[in-house]
Amino acid sequence: MATSIFPGEAPDRPEEECAVFGVYSQTDDVARLTCFGLQALQHRGQESAGIAVGDGETVTVTKDLGLVTQVFDESALAALKGRVAVGHCRYATSGGASWMSAQPHMSAIDEVLIALAHNGTLVNTNSIRADLIAKGVQFRSNTDSEVACQVIGYVTRETHHLTDGIQRAMETIEGAYAMVLASPTALYAFRDPHGIRPLCLGKLPGDRGWVVSSETCGLDIVGAEFVRDVNPGEIIRINETGISTLQAVQPAEPRGCIFEYVYFARPDSVIDGQSVYQARRAMGRVLAREAPVDADLVLGVPDSGVPGALGYAEASGLEFTDGIVKNRYVGRTFIQPTQEMRQMGIRIKLNPLPSVLRGKRIVVIDDSIVRGNTSKQLVSMLRAAGAIEVHLRIVSPEVMWPCFYGIDTATQDQLIAANMTNEEMCAFIGCDSLAFISLAGLREACGNAQHKTFCEACFTGEYPVALPESITKTAFLTKGE
Ligand code: SF4
Repeated sequence: MATSIFPGEAPDRPEEECAVFGVYSQTDDVARLTCFGLQALQHRGQESAGIAVGDGETVTVTKDLGLVTQVFDESALAALKGRVAVGHCRYATSGGASWMSAQPHMSAIDEVLIALAHNGTLVNTNSIRADLIAKGVQFRSNTDSEVACQVIGYVTRETHHLTDGIQRAMETIEGAYAMVLASPTALYAFRDPHGIRPLCLGKLPGDRGWVVSSETCGLDIVGAEFVRDVNPGEIIRINETGISTLQAVQPAEPRGCIFEYVYFARPDSVIDGQSVYQARRAMGRVLAREAPVDADLVLGVPDSGVPGALGYAEASGLEFTDGIVKNRYVGRTFIQPTQEMRQMGIRIKLNPLPSVLRGKRIVVIDDSIVRGNTSKQLVSMLRAAGAIEVHLRIVSPEVMWPCFYGIDTATQDQLIAANMTNEEMCAFIGCDSLAFISLAGLREACGNAQHKTFCEACFTGEYPVALPESITKTAFLTKGE
């Protein structure tokens, strides 16, 4: 399904919040490696990018609105020299899109600066923020990530030990977080007790250093070898003496976000031991078993629907085809479209192939349906291109609940599946049939055979991290409440 390319327009799919990346190396250009890592992770956030570097004495940050390649050029990287770097690219949910909300965030521990980059969302920062303000801490943004950075700084001023400060912060903050932190001399990586958002550790060849990344595709681009995932509740510290680890808080039941496999992660990444690409192909095979249809062709909505379409074709015996071409160079942009372009809707990003589709009964595989508007445009576009039947098959179950852990899924009154029956959705979208994978089928495709458990709250409403009373579920059900 196509995300809106229009600035300020609500996306019609779940949107990632962020990516984080970090490097420690005494030999390599850590800012350059981080820039490449962020480019590999750009799909997780396109609204701002930033890199902070520790040079032994202090920490320097460069960040701005825009894509990684818009924020960083040779001169920007040349100004960021050191042994430790953390980077971030952001999709704005908490705190809106502004320079102040761009990460990494900085905090001062007496005279020593630290920089923090965060993927996820914290659910209890209002009270922590109020407490810190009462103690004289000043904030530059209204993001949960800055609250985490300031609480680490504040606690470390008391304990005089950064690992203790991070541990105390992890005991205080609640929600989903995969974080990397740079001090002048060390790189830290830590993950919430449920491991909701992904974070992995890699090693540069020839003992040149260490890398942490939201996804393994970030390790691949800098030539780092995957070592392991950062464990839930763990702090990893890397400095000139090597790597050390601390189980800072007790790990809870693993609850990695199942939507990473459906849509967020790149297909060439491996999360918690499961290949994202293979999971998506398996989703298609499961859907073919659960929701077969008599048709001529199977095609996927680029990019995330394509592996599922291959799996569906494989299991059903139907012919797989390319049927929709994606313009890869139209992404989130600060260039405003014309009114005429807005009326073209998804055509600006996706274009069908009439020579393939004309006179055919087609099965279309897509990753998810949030509001349904884009699916409606998609089906209309495929019919206009000559398809005589359009059967929509979705490799995620119905999205019924908002996400509180770093994903922008809209409020419940905007979620089409929470407000319509299957027949009503089918009529609204204009397809001949509509089916979603079952939750059991999705688990199976994502490696449930390995006895993993996932966060599935946007399908079930069962949230792994209890929401504080001030943030009840119902407060998020309708916009503006
Ligand atoms: S609620 Fe959904 S999108 Fe959010 S972390 Fe859980 S599975 Fe992922």
